[in-house]
Amino acid sequence: IAMFVLILVQERAEQRLIALTETDSLTGIRNRHWMMDRLPRLAPACSAYLAIDIDHFKQVNDRYGHAAGDQVLVAVAQGMANALGEDAIFARVGGEEFGLYLPQASDTEARSAAELLRTTVEALRIFYEGQMLSVTLSAGVSVTPGQRSMSRLVARADEALYAAKGGGRNRVVLLGLRHEEPGAKP
Ligand code: GH3
Ligand code: MG
Ligand code: MG
Repeated sequence: IAMFVLILVQERAEQRLIALTETDSLTGIRNRHWMMDRLPRLAPACSAYLAIDIDHFKQVNDRYGHAAGDQVLVAVAQGMANALGEDAIFARVGGEEFGLYLPQASDTEARSAAELLRTTVEALRIFYEGQMLSVTLSAGVSVTPGQRSMSRLVARADEALYAAKGGGRNRVVLLGLRHEEPGAKP
């Protein structure tokens, strides 16, 4: 029995360690490492990637301080995670950047996932030391009609994000990947 208990305790400790390595310590949502483990090398047809970035986040730090920025990040990350639900392949992939992978999504579905996140964050009211802060985000969405390398799908989402920033921020831009001849390099 002692042996059995010891094994159980060890397994639980191991699971907690794994959970720690997969969790972003500031926001409590999944981190980049967890995300990378879940992205297939080849993105299947009709899959989508969303690159999400908080708008003018540097201004929050500059105006209210880094601690306020941290609090905004926690609220934004948790607000988005709650809106998407437990099963979403969603993570904080950089400082104020988040990623969402949709293994199966039409253009319309991918765009509405991005709009859900955009409106959720836009509606957040974050209280910090008696002040009310709010932020917006921009999202770049890429959807692929056929199988492509994941790196191409992600790069296309980054291009779309760049366009969303250039277009005025607090918006979603979707860019598709072109249909290609059968046998073309993915
Ligand atoms: P844009 O709308 O073009 O995205 O502008 P931006 O200000 O959001 O983008 P920029 O890349 O210039 O600044 C990102 C800022 O995010 C700079 C960095 O200090 C801040 N940041 C990154 N990680 C953290 C963090 O964990 N906590 C805090 N408080 N700030 C962070
Ligand atoms: Mg950024
Ligand atoms: Mg930003």
